[in-house]
Amino acid sequence: MSAFPGKCFYCGKELKGRGVKRHFRTHLRDLKEGEDAFLILAKSHPFWMVIAVRKDLLLEDLDQFLRDVWVECCDHLSMFEIEGEPYPRYESSIYGDRSMKVRLSEVLRPDLTFRYEYDFGTTTEIDLYVFGEVKAPLRRDGISIIGQNDLPALLCDMCGKRPAKYINEYNGRLICDECYNERMKYEVLPLVNSPRAGVCGYEGSRVDPGEYRVRV
Ligand SMILES: [Zn+2]
Ligand SMILES: [Zn+2]
Ligand SMILES: [Zn+2]
Repeated sequence: MSAFPGKCFYCGKELKGRGVKRHFRTHLRDLKEGEDAFLILAKSHPFWMVIAVRKDLLLEDLDQFLRDVWVECCDHLSMFEIEGEPYPRYESSIYGDRSMKVRLSEVLRPDLTFRYEYDFGTTTEIDLYVFGEVKAPLRRDGISIIGQNDLPALLCDMCGKRPAKYINEYNGRLICDECYNERMKYEVLPLVNSPRAGVCGYEGSRVDPGEYRVRV
Protein backbone atom coordinates (compact mmCIF):
# COMPACT_ATOMS: atom_id res chain seq x y z
CA MET A 1 0.00 0.00 0.00
CA SER A 2 1.36 3.42 -0.81
CA ALA A 3 0.83 6.36 1.49
CA PHE A 4 -2.76 7.57 1.82
CA PRO A 5 -3.77 10.47 -0.43
CA GLY A 6 -4.26 13.82 1.25
CA LYS A 7 -4.18 17.53 0.88
CA CYS A 8 -1.82 20.48 1.09
CA PHE A 9 -3.58 23.16 3.16
CA TYR A 10 -1.10 25.78 2.02
CA CYS A 11 -1.89 25.71 -1.70
CA GLY A 12 -5.03 23.57 -1.66
CA LYS A 13 -3.65 20.84 -3.88
CA GLU A 14 -4.97 17.31 -3.53
CA LEU A 15 -2.07 14.90 -3.27
CA LYS A 16 -1.82 11.29 -4.22
CA GLY A 17 0.10 9.06 -1.86
CA ARG A 18 3.25 9.38 -3.93
CA GLY A 19 5.08 12.63 -4.33
CA VAL A 20 4.11 14.04 -0.94
CA LYS A 21 7.71 14.82 -0.01
CA ARG A 22 8.40 16.37 -3.39
CA HIS A 23 5.34 18.58 -3.14
CA PHE A 24 6.14 20.08 0.25
CA ARG A 25 9.78 20.57 -0.63
CA THR A 26 8.60 23.03 -3.28
CA HIS A 27 6.97 25.14 -0.54
CA LEU A 28 10.28 25.63 1.28
CA ARG A 29 10.90 28.74 -0.77
CA ASP A 30 7.27 29.92 -0.63
CA LEU A 31 6.93 29.91 3.14
CA LYS A 32 8.59 33.16 4.04
CA GLU A 33 6.06 35.07 6.09
CA GLY A 34 5.46 34.43 9.74
CA GLU A 35 7.54 32.96 12.53
CA ASP A 36 10.81 31.06 12.30
CA ALA A 37 9.89 27.42 12.00
CA PHE A 38 11.04 24.04 10.83
CA LEU A 39 9.00 22.38 8.10
CA ILE A 40 8.72 18.73 9.10
CA LEU A 41 7.20 15.61 7.56
CA ALA A 42 5.86 13.08 10.07
CA LYS A 43 4.89 9.70 8.74
CA SER A 44 3.77 6.44 10.12
CA HIS A 45 2.90 4.49 7.04
CA PRO A 46 0.40 4.94 5.39
CA PHE A 47 -0.46 8.02 7.51
CA TRP A 48 1.43 11.31 7.13
CA MET A 49 1.34 14.91 8.20
CA VAL A 50 3.42 17.97 7.35
CA ILE A 51 3.81 20.55 10.07
CA ALA A 52 5.56 23.85 10.64
CA VAL A 53 6.90 24.07 14.18
CA ARG A 54 8.37 27.14 15.84
CA LYS A 55 12.09 26.63 16.22
CA ASP A 56 12.27 27.65 19.86
CA LEU A 57 9.71 25.08 21.00
CA LEU A 58 10.91 22.11 23.03
CA LEU A 59 10.92 18.48 21.94
CA GLU A 60 8.38 18.13 24.73
CA ASP A 61 6.00 20.46 22.84
CA LEU A 62 6.33 18.42 19.68
CA ASP A 63 5.68 15.29 21.74
CA GLN A 64 2.53 16.87 23.17
CA PHE A 65 1.30 17.84 19.70
CA LEU A 66 1.86 14.34 18.32
CA ARG A 67 0.02 12.93 21.32
CA ASP A 68 -2.93 15.32 21.14
CA VAL A 69 -3.49 15.04 17.42
CA TRP A 70 -2.27 11.60 16.52
CA VAL A 71 -1.47 8.99 19.17
CA GLU A 72 -2.46 9.59 22.79
CA CYS A 73 -4.50 6.75 24.26
CA CYS A 74 -3.51 6.38 27.92
CA ASP A 75 -0.43 8.45 28.70
CA HIS A 76 2.26 5.98 27.71
CA LEU A 77 5.95 6.79 27.68
CA SER A 78 7.46 8.26 24.55
CA MET A 79 10.85 9.08 23.15
CA PHE A 80 12.58 10.83 20.28
CA GLU A 81 15.74 9.44 18.78
CA ILE A 82 17.88 12.03 17.07
CA GLU A 83 21.25 11.25 15.52
CA GLY A 84 21.53 8.11 17.60
CA GLU A 85 20.68 9.82 20.89
CA PRO A 86 17.52 9.07 22.88
CA TYR A 87 15.40 11.93 24.25
CA PRO A 88 12.80 10.37 26.55
CA ARG A 89 9.75 12.21 27.87
CA TYR A 90 10.92 11.66 31.41
CA GLU A 91 14.55 11.74 32.43
CA SER A 92 15.82 8.30 33.18
CA SER A 93 19.23 7.03 34.14
CA ILE A 94 18.90 4.47 31.35
CA TYR A 95 19.20 7.31 28.85
CA GLY A 96 21.78 9.42 30.62
CA ASP A 97 20.51 12.87 31.52
CA ARG A 98 18.78 13.63 28.23
CA SER A 99 15.13 14.53 28.14
CA MET A 100 12.69 16.34 25.89
CA LYS A 101 13.42 19.64 27.59
CA VAL A 102 15.60 20.76 24.73
CA ARG A 103 14.86 23.32 22.04
CA LEU A 104 14.19 22.08 18.54
CA SER A 105 16.74 24.59 17.24
CA GLU A 106 19.43 22.81 19.26
CA VAL A 107 18.82 19.34 17.91
CA LEU A 108 17.18 19.69 14.48
CA ARG A 109 18.64 20.91 11.21
CA PRO A 110 17.57 20.85 7.56
CA ASP A 111 17.58 17.46 5.88
CA LEU A 112 17.70 15.55 9.17
CA THR A 113 15.73 12.35 9.67
CA PHE A 114 14.74 11.39 13.20
CA ARG A 115 12.32 9.11 14.98
CA TYR A 116 9.59 9.16 17.59
CA GLU A 117 8.12 6.27 19.54
CA TYR A 118 4.93 6.37 21.53
CA ASP A 119 4.26 3.52 23.99
CA PHE A 120 7.11 1.08 24.45
CA GLY A 121 4.68 -1.88 24.58
CA THR A 122 2.39 -1.66 21.55
CA THR A 123 4.61 0.95 19.97
CA THR A 124 3.54 3.46 17.35
CA GLU A 125 6.61 4.59 15.45
CA ILE A 126 6.74 7.87 13.61
CA ASP A 127 9.50 8.83 11.19
CA LEU A 128 10.21 12.51 10.96
CA TYR A 129 12.10 14.44 8.32
CA VAL A 130 13.12 18.09 8.49
CA PHE A 131 12.66 19.66 5.05
CA GLY A 132 14.27 22.86 6.20
CA GLU A 133 13.78 26.24 7.81
CA VAL A 134 10.85 28.45 6.84
CA LYS A 135 8.79 31.34 8.08
CA ALA A 136 5.22 30.25 8.54
CA PRO A 137 1.93 31.47 9.97
CA LEU A 138 1.59 29.33 13.08
CA ARG A 139 -1.67 28.35 14.70
CA ARG A 140 -2.13 26.79 18.09
CA ASP A 141 0.90 26.32 20.37
CA GLY A 142 3.37 27.55 17.73
CA ILE A 143 2.54 24.74 15.34
CA SER A 144 0.62 24.56 12.07
CA ILE A 145 -0.47 21.54 10.10
CA ILE A 146 0.46 22.33 6.50
CA GLY A 147 -0.83 19.10 5.00
CA GLN A 148 -2.24 15.76 6.03
CA ASN A 149 -3.48 12.49 4.60
CA ASP A 150 -7.19 11.83 4.41
CA LEU A 151 -8.60 8.57 5.63
CA PRO A 152 -9.69 6.89 2.41
CA ALA A 153 -12.81 4.72 2.29
CA LEU A 154 -11.52 1.29 3.25
CA LEU A 155 -13.71 -1.71 2.62
CA CYS A 156 -15.06 -3.95 5.33
CA ASP A 157 -13.08 -7.20 5.61
CA MET A 158 -16.23 -9.19 6.37
CA CYS A 159 -18.57 -8.23 3.52
CA GLY A 160 -16.00 -6.66 1.22
CA LYS A 161 -18.61 -4.16 0.08
CA ARG A 162 -19.25 -1.35 2.48
CA PRO A 163 -16.85 1.21 3.93
CA ALA A 164 -15.38 0.15 7.26
CA LYS A 165 -16.19 2.11 10.41
CA TYR A 166 -14.37 0.00 12.99
CA ILE A 167 -11.12 -1.86 13.39
CA ASN A 168 -10.65 -4.98 15.48
CA GLU A 169 -8.01 -4.33 18.14
CA TYR A 170 -6.80 -7.93 18.15
CA ASN A 171 -6.61 -8.91 14.48
CA GLY A 172 -6.77 -5.60 12.61
CA ARG A 173 -9.85 -6.61 10.63
CA LEU A 174 -11.99 -3.76 9.34
CA ILE A 175 -15.73 -3.86 9.98
CA CYS A 176 -18.64 -1.86 8.58
CA ASP A 177 -21.80 -0.77 10.37
CA GLU A 178 -23.86 -3.59 8.88
CA CYS A 179 -21.43 -6.34 9.82
CA TYR A 180 -20.91 -4.98 13.33
CA ASN A 181 -22.69 -6.82 16.11
CA GLU A 182 -22.89 -6.51 19.88
CA ARG A 183 -20.47 -9.38 20.49
CA MET A 184 -17.71 -7.26 18.97
CA LYS A 185 -18.27 -4.45 21.44
CA TYR A 186 -15.11 -5.05 23.45
CA GLU A 187 -12.90 -5.90 20.49
CA VAL A 188 -13.43 -3.07 18.08
CA LEU A 189 -12.32 0.54 18.02
CA PRO A 190 -13.38 3.37 15.72
CA LEU A 191 -11.42 3.50 12.49
CA VAL A 192 -9.90 6.98 12.75
CA ASN A 193 -7.31 8.97 10.85
CA SER A 194 -4.33 8.05 12.99
CA PRO A 195 -1.48 5.55 12.95
CA ARG A 196 -2.79 4.56 16.40
CA ALA A 197 -6.17 3.41 15.01
CA GLY A 198 -6.97 -0.05 16.34
CA VAL A 199 -4.31 0.05 19.07
CA CYS A 200 -4.74 0.10 22.86
CA GLY A 201 -8.21 1.63 23.01
CA TYR A 202 -7.33 4.58 20.78
CA GLU A 203 -10.49 6.44 19.77
CA GLY A 204 -9.23 9.52 17.98
CA SER A 205 -7.60 12.93 18.43
CA ARG A 206 -7.94 14.70 21.75
CA VAL A 207 -7.74 18.01 19.97
CA ASP A 208 -9.44 18.94 16.73
CA PRO A 209 -6.65 18.89 14.12
CA GLY A 210 -8.56 21.72 12.41
CA GLU A 211 -7.36 24.04 15.16
CA TYR A 212 -3.82 23.56 13.91
CA ARG A 213 -4.52 23.78 10.20
CA VAL A 214 -2.59 26.55 8.48
CA ARG A 215 -4.62 29.51 7.24
CA VAL A 216 -3.18 31.46 4.37
ZN1 LIG B 1 0.95 22.82 -1.61
ZN1 LIG C 1 -2.80 2.97 25.63
ZN1 LIG D 1 -19.31 -5.33 6.20
